[in-house]
Amino acid sequence: VVRLHEVHKSFGALKVLDGVSFDVHRGEVAALIGRSGSGKSTALRCIDRLERIDSGMITVCGHDVADPALKLRALRLDVGIVFQSYNLFPHLTVMQNIMLAPRSVKGLGRAEAVDLARGVLAKVGLADKADAYPEQLSGGQQQRAAIARSLAMQPKVMLFDEVTSALDPELTGEVLRVIEDLAAGGMTMIMVTHEMGFARHIASQVLFMHRGRVWEAGPPAIMSDPATPELRQFVGSELR
Ligand code: ATP
Ligand code: MG
Repeated sequence: VVRLHEVHKSFGALKVLDGVSFDVHRGEVAALIGRSGSGKSTALRCIDRLERIDSGMITVCGHDVADPALKLRALRLDVGIVFQSYNLFPHLTVMQNIMLAPRSVKGLGRAEAVDLARGVLAKVGLADKADAYPEQLSGGQQQRAAIARSLAMQPKVMLFDEVTSALDPELTGEVLRVIEDLAAGGMTMIMVTHEMGFARHIASQVLFMHRGRVWEAGPPAIMSDPATPELRQFVGSELR
């Protein structure tokens, strides 16, 4: 569903992606791990064409992301992305936040959009918060609302960039549970995470990025038995 082949990306003189290649198949959960600055967020942003790549190939659900003529709208219908900061519109209720894109982008009628919103809110355990404003929610609830908003567009692939990093530990679990449910439902996902235990538990594939490359990749077992000193060192530092 998602394929990167020899992707290169620089910001000025800084080479951030130096030949990144990986495949994520339908229903797979890929965990993208690695040190700060290794290029994880940039890789995700390139997949959703929030950044243009310099060379290489990215295909997502049949879209050629490197094609200048790519229909961004079509790509973004298939890909949902959720960041560390929730980015909910503060002046809209949770329900209004979720209905916005289905109404304006997909042209759903009001009743249809309400039904859809109720469905995704139930999925993330926020059925009772439909009429709350973002500031009335905890961080974990806001993040779940942000995930619900993405799900309302019925994406084929979900990208998560450290969605629990801004949360207190006790709120992290509730967000991870939502992601776990999505995985169980067969959603294709790529998640950047520092939750090593969770990655081990949920991922079908672990991609360790180092110096702008996929340095080591494989099943979660590679985290217990790294082949490279770089992954060994990284896993060691995350456990501390
Ligand atoms: P972290 O774990 O800290 O989130 P990361 O692996 O997600 O790190 P990236 O955000 O992909 O790392 O950044 C990789 C490198 O690219 C960093 O050195 C960063 O400063 C640089 N970088 C990212 N975005 C830009 C930008 N828009 N302009 C210039 N440099 C950038
Ligand atoms: Mg990042």
